[in-house]
This record gives sequence, C-alpha cells and structure tokens, in this order.
Amino acid sequence: TAPVHIVGGGLAGSEAAWQLAERGHEVILHEMRPVRGTAAHRTERLGELVCSNTFKSTETSNAHGLLKAEMRALGSLILSCADEARVPGGSALTVDRDIFSQGVHDRVHAHPRITVSREEVTELPAVGIIATGPLTSDALAERIRARLGVESLAFYDAIAPVVAVESIDQSIAFRASRWGKETMEGAGEEGAFLNCAFTKDEYDAFIAALTTADQFTAHEFDAVPYFEGCMPVEEMARRGAESLRFGPMKPIGLQDPRSDKRPWAVVQLRMEDRGGRMWNLVGFQTRLRIPEQARVFRMIPGLAEAEFLRYGSIHRNSYVNAPAALSPHLALRDAPTTLFAGQITGVEGYTESSATGMLAGINLSRMLRGQEPVIPPAVSMLGALYRYLREADPKHFQPMNANFGLLDELEGVPPKVLKDKVRKRELFAERALQALHTWRDEHGLAVTR
Ligand code: FAD
Repeated sequence: TAPVHIVGGGLAGSEAAWQLAERGHEVILHEMRPVRGTAAHRTERLGELVCSNTFKSTETSNAHGLLKAEMRALGSLILSCADEARVPGGSALTVDRDIFSQGVHDRVHAHPRITVSREEVTELPAVGIIATGPLTSDALAERIRARLGVESLAFYDAIAPVVAVESIDQSIAFRASRWGKETMEGAGEEGAFLNCAFTKDEYDAFIAALTTADQFTAHEFDAVPYFEGCMPVEEMARRGAESLRFGPMKPIGLQDPRSDKRPWAVVQLRMEDRGGRMWNLVGFQTRLRIPEQARVFRMIPGLAEAEFLRYGSIHRNSYVNAPAALSPHLALRDAPTTLFAGQITGVEGYTESSATGMLAGINLSRMLRGQEPVIPPAVSMLGALYRYLREADPKHFQPMNANFGLLDELEGVPPKVLKDKVRKRELFAERALQALHTWRDEHGLAVTR
C-alpha cells in the first residue's frame, strides 16, 4: 500500500509518524529544516523544543499532568523521550532539550517503517497529516487558506485570559448585554455577558496598574503588527486614560443592579464554552507577563479571586479555525484522510500538540483499515480539548491549552467536597482516566507489539 505522508517533523508530526509506523503503516515524514528554517527553530533535529524545556506538571490533579497520564495510556513516543531526557524539576516533566530532541530524532530515524524526507511541502496530502505548527511555511499556509477559505487560517493569535466561573464573584459581576441586546442562545433574558463594573477610582487605579505592568518582550520575528482586534489591552490603555472606557470597557447600555446606575466602566466576560464554566475577558488580549496578568486583572471588581484557566498572549501563530473548518477528528470536511495535528489545529502547548499528533496517527491508521475515527470521551482532557475544537464559537475562536474548565462539572458529588479544589481535581482525574481506559479498550487502541 502507498505510504502515508506526515508534513512537519515537530512534536505532533513525530508522534503521529510513530503511531502510524507502530501500527504497521509505511510513513514518509516531510520536514523542511534545514532546507528551509523557521524563525524559532535552531537545529535540524526532529521534535525540537523552541522555547522552554518543560512539559509542565506530572500530577494528575493538574490539567497538563492529567493529559500526560492519558497520553501514557495510549503509548506516547514524545513522553517516552521526555522521560529519558528528564532533569530535576520537581513535579514537572522538565527535560534536557538536546537529549530530548536527539531522542525523538534517533527513534524516528531508526524506525524501519519511517522515511524522513527533508523538503518543504506545499500541497495538502490526500492521505496524511499536516503538523506544520505555529510557524507553518508561507507557501503551505497559502495552500491551506486557498483550500479552507481565507478566514479559516489565522497568522497571529491574540488571546484574552479565561477565568473559571466558580472563581468569579457573582455578587459583584452581573449578567447583562449592552442595551439588552446581543443575547445568545441559552443566555435567556439575562444577557450573554457577565459584567464587572468599575467606579471612577477603581478605573483610574486599574489603568495605572495596567500601563505600568511588566510586559513580555517578544522575539523580533514575533513582532505582531497591531491592528484592530489584535491590539494589546495595555497598549490601548497607554494611548489615553479614557481609551478603554470608549473601547472594550465602555459602560454604555448597561446598568449596575447594585446601584441602578450606569457604571464608570465595565469589563465584559463572554462565555467561552457551552457549559458556561469558562469566561473570556472580552478585548483583553495582552502581552503582560503571567504574574502581572494575575496581579492586574484581579483588580477587576468581581475577579479578586479569579482562577485563570488560560492566560492572555499575542504571538505569531498559524492556526486553523477548527470549529469552522475541520471535522470532529480534525480533518478536511470533504477529505477525511487529510488530517491536521499539533498547534495548527488551535491547541496551545507542547503536550497538547503532541497529544493531537498521537490521536491523528491513531485515527488515520483506523481509517486506512476501514474503521471510523474515534474521539475520547469529553470527560477526559484529550476528549475535552477535541470537543472545544469542535464546538467553540467560530466567531471568537482562540487557541486553547489543557485546563479543568474544559471538563463538565462532576455529578453526584456533595457540594462540600467540590469546595476542596485539590480533591475536586483528583475526582476529575479519576473520572477522566477511568473513561479513557474504557474507551481505549473498547476500541482496542493500545499498541501491542
Ligand atoms: P512544531 O514543533 O513547530 O513542528 C512543526 C514542524 O513543521 C517544524 O519542524 C517545521 O520546520 C515544519 N514545517 C513547517 N512548515 C513546513 C512545510 N511546509 N513543509 C515541511 N515542514 C514544515 N509551547 C509550550 O508548551 N511551551 C513553550 O515554552 C512554548 N514556546 C513557544 C515559543 C515559540 C517561539 C513558539 C512559536 C511556540 C511556542 N510554544 C510553546 C507553542 C507550541 O507548543 C510549540 O510551538 C510546539 O512545538 C508545537 O508543536 P507542533 O508539532 O504543532 O509544531
């Protein structure tokens, strides 16, 4: 049979190639380095880590730890290489980046069914996986745009923070839409947004903190041309003390039920998921450093105790608007054996990218054997990420990392137990792993050699 083509030998592509090869398929892995470089990669190795050297926590009471436990249940090449390259890092899976990528490189090259081809691919494979990452080459990005439609591939992300619903003080934040409009399905009469109202003093203090907070300095290639919808909130604030009050923080059309008055300014939170567990700070894309985001955004009335499920960022990042353009298993809707994996699908992070590579490899193998693609149950972290990529609102789609806000609320657990954050996460993890193991065994997904 004809070989399968994987485009991109990063984290997702290497994992996908491995999964397919282990399931008996001949694979050609196309990697453009060193023929053509990217602005972030420095070596010719497969699976190069472009920035930090950590895959984050290993504890299942942490969302990244849970995702890794799920990947281990399916047999991950990337995690096995990370284990071999591990350096002391407490409970985090921190690696020596050179040993790690050399491990991926050597294992992939040594696989008898994988051929590595060094070239830039500019066409979408009919049977294969596109895993070209956040720095997909221009020519291929143009092809993807031509195939999916211009709106479906972004070149930058402009991510606003997302907070957990239970951490929002709803005795302060109130449900309403400006002028009572913009209601959305399921929001009913209450309005689609949660509004955090500011007095003048609160607003002035907030603007002062926002404009003086420490900002992340990006690499030169990462310089994003600021345009509307992509302007960091701190930059907007620097253009004048009133600019946010006339922009995303405008109070018009709103009345604070506590005072029956129009607030001086508001921050609006929009529901990020159908379950209403994750709320996005509308217009608050930012380049502030993470501890600074936590400090400054907790000054927003109602968010003093905010738990951040995703922090804001602005990056160069090629990613597909998956809910608008891809099938549930992240393939072209009219070509189910042309799959996408890794950061280009709209997930964010090393572990998330590797995990989608893994499932893409598993699913392409299944389809080549005449079976249906499968997605893990949504109570697992991987299943919940796929659900997000399928069901997020395409109009506001932004990349997502693993977090507990993606999971449905636990059922049948006493409220007292749910108040214990650590216990709650342990219960999430137990439910997730149990469901994932059952799902894996039902579909016979464990690789047995
Ligand atoms: P990559 O690992 O980038 O792999 C894609 C591969 O495709 C590359 O090797 C590239 O050369 C190749 N390629 C591209 N176009 C073509 C083509 N047309 N033909 C053939 N090959 C092609 N995540 C974290 O969790 N922690 C971090 O610290 C972190 N830092 C980041 C820093 C930067 C500068 C960037 C850009 C991203 C960062 N990320 C980080 C996000 C993301 O998790 C990583 O980029 C991750 O490597 C994505 O995995 P991937 O497999 O999707 O893409």
